[in-house]
Amino acid sequence: MAELSPMMKQYFEIKEKNPDSILFFRLGDFYEMFYEDAKIASEELDLVLTGRDCGQEERAPMCGVPYHSCESYIARLISKGYRVAICEQTEDPAKAKGLVKRDVINVVTPGTVIDDSMLDESRNNYLCSVFRLDDAFGVCFVDASCGLLHLTELSGDDAAERVIGELGRFMPSEMLLSKSLVNNQEISDFAKMRIGCRLTNRDESEFDAAKSRNIVLEHFNALSLEELGVPDNSASLSALGSALSYLYETRKTGLEAINKVDFYTDSQYMRLDISAMRNLELCETMRGGKKGSLLWVLDKTKTAMGKRRLRGMLEQPLMSINEINLRHNAVEELYEQPVSRGEIREKLSGIKDLERLMSRIIYGTASPKELNTLAATTEHLPAIRSQLENCNSKLLKNIHESIDLLGDIGSRIFATIDDEPSSLVREGNIIRQGFSKEVDELRADFTDGKDIITRIESGERDKTGIKTLKVRYNKVFGYYIEVPNSFKGEVPENYIRKQTLTNCERYITDELKNLESRVLGARERVNQLEYEIFDELRRFVADNRERVLKTADAIARLDAIVSLSEVAVANNYRRPMLNEEGKLQITAGRHPVIEVISRTPFVPNDTLLDNSDNRCMIITGPNMAGKSTYMRQVALITVMAQIGSFVPADVANIPICDAVFTRVGASDDLSAGQSTFMVEMSEVAYILKNATSKSLLILDEIGRGTSTYDGMAIARAVLEYSADRKKLGAKTLFATHYHELTSLEDEISGVKNYNIAVKKRGEDITFLRKIMRGSADRSYGIEVAKLSGIPISVINRAKTVLKNLEAEGLYRVTPEIKEDSAQISISEQGTSMLIEEIKLLDINNMTPMDALKELYQIVEKAKGIN
Ligand code: ADP
Repeated sequence: MAELSPMMKQYFEIKEKNPDSILFFRLGDFYEMFYEDAKIASEELDLVLTGRDCGQEERAPMCGVPYHSCESYIARLISKGYRVAICEQTEDPAKAKGLVKRDVINVVTPGTVIDDSMLDESRNNYLCSVFRLDDAFGVCFVDASCGLLHLTELSGDDAAERVIGELGRFMPSEMLLSKSLVNNQEISDFAKMRIGCRLTNRDESEFDAAKSRNIVLEHFNALSLEELGVPDNSASLSALGSALSYLYETRKTGLEAINKVDFYTDSQYMRLDISAMRNLELCETMRGGKKGSLLWVLDKTKTAMGKRRLRGMLEQPLMSINEINLRHNAVEELYEQPVSRGEIREKLSGIKDLERLMSRIIYGTASPKELNTLAATTEHLPAIRSQLENCNSKLLKNIHESIDLLGDIGSRIFATIDDEPSSLVREGNIIRQGFSKEVDELRADFTDGKDIITRIESGERDKTGIKTLKVRYNKVFGYYIEVPNSFKGEVPENYIRKQTLTNCERYITDELKNLESRVLGARERVNQLEYEIFDELRRFVADNRERVLKTADAIARLDAIVSLSEVAVANNYRRPMLNEEGKLQITAGRHPVIEVISRTPFVPNDTLLDNSDNRCMIITGPNMAGKSTYMRQVALITVMAQIGSFVPADVANIPICDAVFTRVGASDDLSAGQSTFMVEMSEVAYILKNATSKSLLILDEIGRGTSTYDGMAIARAVLEYSADRKKLGAKTLFATHYHELTSLEDEISGVKNYNIAVKKRGEDITFLRKIMRGSADRSYGIEVAKLSGIPISVINRAKTVLKNLEAEGLYRVTPEIKEDSAQISISEQGTSMLIEEIKLLDINNMTPMDALKELYQIVEKAKGIN
């Protein structure tokens, strides 16, 4: 077989070292991909697959992207879970002897990207590393784009489940696994299937304790692990070490923004698993998309940093009353000062993403424009800090102290960089006129030279009489004189011919060449000098990272707190009280999202749960009465209270809950091939195993997935277990269709019956939305079905069947009505609900297939409305 060309040999040498990545191989102005990589990229990026001579008979499959617009292509590959290795020319092609040297300078992976264009500004992008040592798991989450690092160690029988809990909380985009963990199917399946994160297998040696210790101490410039709060020889040390070594391997340098370890225990935060987060629609709705979620209501932040921080708070509700009170005090203080709050919000609007800017400044990829953005941001800091001058709450005082005005940095950038600098750092036009004498002089040389060249043009025209003579420039010849063919006989002798084209001839002269070296020399020198000045400035800012990052952190916290105050005022929330006694009492509570999106006024409701007589509420009432809204509202108010937010209620006293568990409606895990019932039961099993007496349980229609009697029996057993103080004794909200279960009030202490009232008028019912003591008298299934548009003959038949059942003493057997069809189709509410649903569709984030499915469902639902 013929030998490969030298360049292809070089390609293969580099590709061999990067087998898991798509190799972007720099060739002039393009990044080219070859062979398998080219096939994948052409498919995923819709690029034309061509070929390139590689020395062998068959051409190498190839496709490419222009280097200046590579980011969007890389972003697309990353979002599909690929890694991209960027291979650059590491010497100037013009000066290279033979083949240009090339090397991989950066590997972009889903968990390590820092480019803005590849990231969602509203959420952190985590790389996660999990390591198992004996019965303990170390879990590390790093967001390299913001310099955030969380580390924890989980042990005990349920450690694997808690690891899953943390994964669900932080939703990493990439996870590093050792071999020992690859075998832990449960964890890797969850990461891959439920979170959709990329799994990257790492050699066991990457998790080695000694190696980890070295890299951790070196990175944080620490003398001991103790100083960092990281236990030696632990699973968490290995998780941390392996995450750092992966970052160094892919990013090579510029990781100083990661400057502290947040070592936490999961008991510091309320446990919220992925089902609870989804069912309660905390950050996203079940359909996906933020609109319609709790975060959507609470987020009135003005900065990207604040947005991410608020989301982080929602993902980690606090367990310490003291810490929560610190937040509540701060929210209250701003709540009561509308003027100050307004001023702060206005100034916050001018603050850019300092965290991500700093990461790129440290990494050395920030552009001159980005430095200007940083400088412009610093101009808003004094006004923000002065608004906080007389604050009383500890948190706001701390924020005030942490804001550094960064005036020296701002003014140095302002003095150095032009107002509208070029975005290409090596092509000049970056430095402000007047900043450097040398730059100004070189620029003058350059401009003068250009002027002289223009003068040469007119001089030569006069001299030769050729009016169409032109002085032009290209990269190959530099400056040259162009004369149309018709005048070539009139060209003077001192013209040296360089090139003949169809219509014209190109010449150079000594004079032109001398000037050229002056112009081009000045240009090269000024470009280089400007780059050096800019780079030094960038390094100066990077050296001040502690100050900038501390300020960024303070701004993020402030923005999140201001947002909570703003929404508290706008939506009429009240400050909740918190207690350790297990008493949950809400007067006139509302559902924070439904009250905002509903077109009809929201009907507030009370709640009482405690550790003695009121541990469990059994809630009955027809479909559409408002049972799930009510249960979710209690859970959401609890979560809101524990993140430090005010709550939608007149009065609320909330016990510190260690977890909220939900079992609501159809599961989203059906694709895994399990039956609905199996999924339901395994979720219930998980809840009963993991809940404690301090947890809040939301159980909606347990047992619905099987036959009536089986279902009822299971529902009853679950309820008995969760209500029994000797077994679980958790606070439980239990909605059911099985009216038989209401007899439990008399049998189990702590169980109380409630129903959501409906008013019956003739054959019609009206929903009152009010929760009342006592059980619903019956399920009104047939009335709801009638409203839903089921043919009248079917309704009449159902009535007859029901009568017969009643006659046989089986009256309370639930009529078989499919909940879905009943729920969406009560004509008036049905229409308005459908409209609400349509409004909430996040079309931009849907695949065409999802959109089609959604449309199909809308049509089906619309058919159900009379
Ligand atoms: P159920 O779980 O009993 O079938 P839902 O909780 O789904 O009923 O409520 C049905 C609809 O009624 C909801 O979409 C909501 O818009 C409306 N709703 C529920 N509770 C209230 C309330 N307290 N005030 C106003 N509207 C409500």
